[in-house]
Amino acid sequence: FITAIVGALVALSIIALVLCLVRIEDVTLPATVKYGMVFDAGSSHTSLFVYEWDSDKENDTGVVSQTLSCDVQGQGISSYTNDPPKAGDSLRECLDKALKVVPAAKQRDAPVYLGATAGMRLLREQNSSAADQVLAEVAKTLQEYPVAFKGARILTGEEEGAYGWITINYLLDSFTKYSPKAHTWVRPEAANILGALDLGGASTQISFMPGSSVISWKEASKLTLYGYNYNIYTHSYLCYGQNEMLKRLAKELIAVRGELGVIGLCSLDHPCYPKDYTETVSLSSFRTSPCTNPSDMRLTLGDRNVTLEGRGNASKCLDAIKKLFNFSACGQHPDCTFDGVYQPPIAGQFIAFSAFYYNFKFLNLTEGQSLATVRETIEHFCTRSWEDLSSSYPEENPDRLPKYCANANYILTLLLDAYKFNETSWNNIIFQMKAGSASVGWTLGYMLNLTNMIPAEAPARVKGHIP
Ligand code: AMP
Repeated sequence: FITAIVGALVALSIIALVLCLVRIEDVTLPATVKYGMVFDAGSSHTSLFVYEWDSDKENDTGVVSQTLSCDVQGQGISSYTNDPPKAGDSLRECLDKALKVVPAAKQRDAPVYLGATAGMRLLREQNSSAADQVLAEVAKTLQEYPVAFKGARILTGEEEGAYGWITINYLLDSFTKYSPKAHTWVRPEAANILGALDLGGASTQISFMPGSSVISWKEASKLTLYGYNYNIYTHSYLCYGQNEMLKRLAKELIAVRGELGVIGLCSLDHPCYPKDYTETVSLSSFRTSPCTNPSDMRLTLGDRNVTLEGRGNASKCLDAIKKLFNFSACGQHPDCTFDGVYQPPIAGQFIAFSAFYYNFKFLNLTEGQSLATVRETIEHFCTRSWEDLSSSYPEENPDRLPKYCANANYILTLLLDAYKFNETSWNNIIFQMKAGSASVGWTLGYMLNLTNMIPAEAPARVKGHIP
């Protein structure tokens, strides 16, 4: 009996010792860093973002930081239809760079996503099997790497808008926070929630929390984040990204002249390009995008080349750009942008990023200038000749330089005439591309959502989701 008691005591002591050791180990283990990667396969190019965060803070706000961003060489993946494996190969250089910043022991656990946006949406519309092939090839390449590849897919425009909105509000810490003092989640201030304005190459997105809470539109996204519901309005306009806009503008200028019966048309004025600048476009180039409707009967000029001659005329440029929008489809309806698209009145502050930022940064207009100053600056810029511009900005990409006048006037039309910002609400737009060290875009929001890093409920750790 005594032996049995001693045996039991020894066994209990060993268990206690083991538990104690485990406990000590638990307490002393350092928080591990986790990594994740997202490829933003845009219409004009692809970028890779590598993120990192402490595993023990996963469900807090604002804890993810950007470790690396890498621009993939060459065009967007939708340009590889003639050689889809090259779309996969194009990603290798950035992947190799990423594997240098993610420790080998962490790579297998690092989730990797590829999200394609409007360039691939357009390709799918034109040729869905070509789009599938490109996606299959990029997936094949990503599977070769020692990472946790989670899929390559095309985002809807609404997802792109909503994830951009999540990224901004996450990075700027405007969602609810857990208060360790009060041991509770603090309700977010509606006034601190920012809207998102994203201008890409092929589409543009607007996402914000409207002032009134009546939500019955199809553009509504209901998000549940940290225990609170957010009804956000988000709309994506395909073919209203800036590259597609420039193509549509050129096509309209040519088509109108064709309509007027100008025989033997080989050159024409482009009001938005600088004086002395010329660009030759082949009419067949308009057939490559569904945005420049190939069946337009006004363009029966075959495969000829047409030379666009810059005229540097700001007011004519603005007029020509306004014609790209079907404003009359809204009739007298006040809550309507163009093409009959519903939008509640804009509310709150907005971050305008991607090409909104690039163009305004180039024009030195990201410091909160008034609308009057912005208009004046753009008007003056548009009058500058090509000779003046190219000698004043020798460092600037010569393909981009002649387009800033058109792009800036396009931004004004979109923000003022379509979205209905005015002199006052203009001051609520912040042109910004980074928050802390992280880039603003849809990628971070996408990763946070797919890795369940934003809990829907507080304090229970339940999935955050976009329905
Ligand atoms: P993306 O983010 O690739 O969809 O590009 C959005 C638009 O911005 C495209 O029309 C690009 O050509 C343009 N863009 C990209 N980077 C820059 C830059 N650094 N400066 C000016 N425009 C840019």
